[in-house]
Amino acid sequence: MKNVAVVGCGAYMDSGYGCPGEWRCLKAAALGEGKFTEPARVIAFVKCECPGRSAAPNLGMAVKLAGIKPDAVYLSSCLAGAKPGCPYATAEELASILKDKTGIPVILGTHDYH
Ligand code: SF4
Repeated sequence: MKNVAVVGCGAYMDSGYGCPGEWRCLKAAALGEGKFTEPARVIAFVKCECPGRSAAPNLGMAVKLAGIKPDAVYLSSCLAGAKPGCPYATAEELASILKDKTGIPVILGTHDYH
């Protein structure tokens, strides 16, 4: 089973409506649905915080503390497909930063649930 980390949009998660950390990302990972091609073990769930500068170091710390290097990092669907989008960076830009800092491949989106 692959190990993965998920990064959600903190601004959205904190709004309390359809939070990315509520269940959708976790269910998709557990069942291998959505962007997960097989069931995966979520070893870290990191909340991005505006303006996004803490996302890479916090992800790095989460991975370090978990003691397990994820096979992939997933940007939550509510981050990757945000409408209106993040005012600070596109999902592609954030993915590029996280990949450059950690060396771990980053996948845009987690699930297709509504
Ligand atoms: S910087 Fe963008 S992705 Fe990160 S919490 Fe703020 S709005 Fe969400």
